[in-house]
Amino acid sequence: MCGIVAFTGTSPTVPVLLNGLRRLEYRGYDSAGLALQTGDGSLEIIKRAGKVAELEQILEETGKAHTSADDSGTKPALGEKDTPGAANTPFSQATTGIGHTRWATHGVPSEANAHPQHDCSGSIAVVHNGIIENYAILRAELQGRGHRFVSQTDTEVVAHLIEEEYAAAHEDLVLAVRATVARLSGSFALAVCHASEPGLLVVTRNDSPLVVGKTKTGAIAASDTPALIEYTREVYYLDDRDLAVLHENGTLHFFDPAGSAIVPTPVTIEWDLEDAERGGYPDFMLKEIHEQPRVVKDTIAGRYSAATGRISFEELALSPRELKHIERVIIVACGTSYHAGLIGRDLMETWARLPVETAVASEFRYRNPLVTPKTLVIAISQSGETADTLEAVKLARLAGAHVLAITNVVGSRITREANTVLYIKAHLEIAVAATKSFLAQVALLTLFALYLAQERGQLESGAVGEVYAAMEQLPRQIAGVLEDTASIISCASECGNAQTALFIGRGVGATICYEGALKLKEISYVHAEAFAAGEIKHGPIALINPEGLTDPQVQTPVVAMACKSATYDKMLSNIEEVLARGAKVIAVATAGDTRIAELTGHVIFIPEVPECLSPLVASVPLQLFARHIALMHGANVDQPRNLAKSVTVE
Ligand code: GLU
Repeated sequence: MCGIVAFTGTSPTVPVLLNGLRRLEYRGYDSAGLALQTGDGSLEIIKRAGKVAELEQILEETGKAHTSADDSGTKPALGEKDTPGAANTPFSQATTGIGHTRWATHGVPSEANAHPQHDCSGSIAVVHNGIIENYAILRAELQGRGHRFVSQTDTEVVAHLIEEEYAAAHEDLVLAVRATVARLSGSFALAVCHASEPGLLVVTRNDSPLVVGKTKTGAIAASDTPALIEYTREVYYLDDRDLAVLHENGTLHFFDPAGSAIVPTPVTIEWDLEDAERGGYPDFMLKEIHEQPRVVKDTIAGRYSAATGRISFEELALSPRELKHIERVIIVACGTSYHAGLIGRDLMETWARLPVETAVASEFRYRNPLVTPKTLVIAISQSGETADTLEAVKLARLAGAHVLAITNVVGSRITREANTVLYIKAHLEIAVAATKSFLAQVALLTLFALYLAQERGQLESGAVGEVYAAMEQLPRQIAGVLEDTASIISCASECGNAQTALFIGRGVGATICYEGALKLKEISYVHAEAFAAGEIKHGPIALINPEGLTDPQVQTPVVAMACKSATYDKMLSNIEEVLARGAKVIAVATAGDTRIAELTGHVIFIPEVPECLSPLVASVPLQLFARHIALMHGANVDQPRNLAKSVTVE
């Protein structure tokens, strides 16, 4: 997730853009850039891979080059060779411009891929947050019509489409943007300016945030409120595919996708700056938990074609033939990613009928593992910098295996070590405890398991399509869990005094428990262990203190994953076993399951989902459960003690 700031007015735009971009830095980014109207018919783009501070430095130098009267021999240090014509207004005095911090999704972080992107003539500049899902087909069409592309981004197609539509609409930028938006699918917030439309900016959005406001000296738009809160507290939120037109005199015009003028209701922001960065949530962890419907949607988007009935992974550097010859899969990962790997293992074995092992990366290279050129090694690391996982990757490469990396960070080390890289679309995760990146990893592994099965002829397209259709329901179902958290909070409150907690489940339910217990211990410091429920009578059940029901200090609550599944009846028996020994049982169960409610008295219901997809919904209440207990203990949920977000040492 990156940042957009756009400003037009009667005062200089550069300070507003840079200030706004700095305010959005917390969202994470890898490159930054600006496009400024520097005079009638002139547009200048300056961009860099790197931080806003570096951009600022370049901008100062470039600004000097333009303001100096006797520097005709000095070439401005523009971001690109093909940036259009000479400017006649110093940057520092430009009053209309757009700015961007990019968090790469398509194409490495580089100057060419940084935004703003521009059209062939260099007259149109575009900044974009999100992903244009149909960019590949649009790009091919545009190239076929002679457009010249200079970046690897999905965004660049937008600039070229506007170029065509601008000509078709008799040079009406608003019409051109509207016609372009109608051709885009995916998520986007866009800000557009044209060299020949001084003082005018057009912004729009779909499934990606964008706010617009009027300031004392003009009009501003940004992808998040921290960028404009210093200039206005009255903002307008656009509906999907609506357009806002910003004029330099501060006038704002809004249009719906059909082109009819609309008058949105202004909203007064009451948060302060710090709150605004967290989107009004009290902590990043909660914000990120709430981003999960969106993250799952983005991660699965565009992977399945209803026309062919097939899943595709175009990035995969393995031919279908090579895939068929894979004899074994080893998934290596650490911590939460390891748990995602356990879920991936079960799905791949079930659907693709291949032997799959999930290994803890820190142990992997010390055990002389059996890796051959016919092994596919899948390495999972949110940051792409996890030292243990990187070492496992190196070993696998040396042994001749194909290494597929699953990561959240474009350009991270793992992306340079692996043969193939698949990105989860979790966007920046700030809280140390992984939440949304876990769901995104599981979603991606689920799709990959389907893909393996499809390519190896183990699943018919009908079956693949059925699972994908169920996956498309997940964002709505996760949102449902997030809307009604009363039972989660009350169950967590019941366990607030416990010094140890057990989590039990069967099948994938056990893995959900491993992750739930890890969340609890890492953020609340309460000792928590998860077990396959069938195992408890082989030892762990001794931990349950029969006094627990009467003395909360010695209570050992048991969180039981008891959703409808192939092992539901067995799970009920396991719950009976711990109840009989005085445990307080918190059950996570399928909505409408009155039997569980009667048995345990403490239930968190989740919507009914196919068992194979249950981690993507059932993990969510356990994240909130852990967070609530941590808050009861007064812990800092974003920065738990002793832990780091990116574990770069072995
Ligand atoms: N998908 C675009 C890119 O990779 C925009 C990414 C962003 O939201 O920063 O360039």
